[in-house]
Amino acid sequence: VFSVVQPGPPIEAFALNKECVDDPFEKKVNLIIGAYRTEESQPWVLPVVRKTEIMLANNEKTNHEYLPILGSAPFSTAATAMLLGKDSKALKEKRAFGVQTLSGTGALSVGSRFLVQHLGAKHFYYSDPTWENHRLVFQHAGFEKGFAYRYWHAGKRGIDMEGLLEDLSKAEPNSVIILHSCAHNPTGCDPTLEQWVQIAAVMKEKKLFPFFDSAYQGFASGDLDEDAKAVRYFIDQGFELLCAQSFAKNFGLYSQRVGNLTFVTNDPSTIPSVLSQVTIIVRGLYSNPPSHGSSIVSTVLNDPELFQEWQGCIKTMSDRIKKMRAGLKERLVKLQTPGSWEHITSQIGMFSYTGLTPAQVQYLKTKHHVYALKSGRINMAAVTTKNLDYVASSIHDAVVN
Ligand code: PMP
Repeated sequence: VFSVVQPGPPIEAFALNKECVDDPFEKKVNLIIGAYRTEESQPWVLPVVRKTEIMLANNEKTNHEYLPILGSAPFSTAATAMLLGKDSKALKEKRAFGVQTLSGTGALSVGSRFLVQHLGAKHFYYSDPTWENHRLVFQHAGFEKGFAYRYWHAGKRGIDMEGLLEDLSKAEPNSVIILHSCAHNPTGCDPTLEQWVQIAAVMKEKKLFPFFDSAYQGFASGDLDEDAKAVRYFIDQGFELLCAQSFAKNFGLYSQRVGNLTFVTNDPSTIPSVLSQVTIIVRGLYSNPPSHGSSIVSTVLNDPELFQEWQGCIKTMSDRIKKMRAGLKERLVKLQTPGSWEHITSQIGMFSYTGLTPAQVQYLKTKHHVYALKSGRINMAAVTTKNLDYVASSIHDAVVN
């Protein structure tokens, strides 16, 4: 019966990653997958995470019972407070809540299904470009149609605000707009607060529904509040919204699938119905989420000392990335690589949208075994002082040849 199945297209990042892993070349550099690497190019288990895991393992009370369908309440309460801020009016007015999900992807998946099934959402809008999974997740949720809104201006190497505002202003009322709350993936270009004000104004006028995607809170600037300012501004403006939170990057818990889906409503009396419907969605999808990762995050967020230590870890990661950005730009300028490289340091977060063409990216791979996405996106967190010279000279060679 399976002979009718045709192969689907490969998922670029994972297919390319396999190619890189299989490449025997000693000096190869993997700038594909968005995961933090140490100076030794190794994955990093945050010391505070390791410590908390040991503490939990040694606690006689730790067990492997099922979590409730909507996950751990101490976790989702702490995660929601981290997003909205301790002084959040929405929290004080008890009109915001979170549910634990399978990392950021799971939060997007549950949230988008909820919007289709219970709010009758039909259209979704994603930035051009965006994280390549947004479209797939929202299509699977049952949206009738997805549209791109302009975001990246290649000439300016920045945000195409005019195009963005024009595209949003043409969206049908009740369309769902996916917004990256910080560290836009793949461009690394975030709107300024003034630009968020403009985006919010158009969305309010056109009655568009914001679905924020917060995959990098704290990881982008090193400051949890700074990285949540767009979401908080929208709430201050009276928007009802959803926000998908991932703890993959900021806790280094990629495989543990720790996420939270925050709902903000203006009418707290709607919450029991919403919760009951989300419960049914999750029950039919995966029944209940895993507990290991969320208990680590919950323990750290709810303990002032561990929280402090975690903030130090976030800073270590974001500072090292900033240093690598500066180092890469400095080398490209020194090598007199044609073009401007200002954007390497003005972009924020894990990725740099280098502006390299698909042909240059291909050249980087075949000639120098430096692997990047076709779009020219590179993972800055995989650049180290040890491979910086090699990466810079390879990029230089790809640009001049
Ligand atoms: N949104 C964006 C923009 C991302 O970059 C990512 C991670 N690559 C995610 C969501 C979700 O990742 P995860 O499911 O691993 O939390």
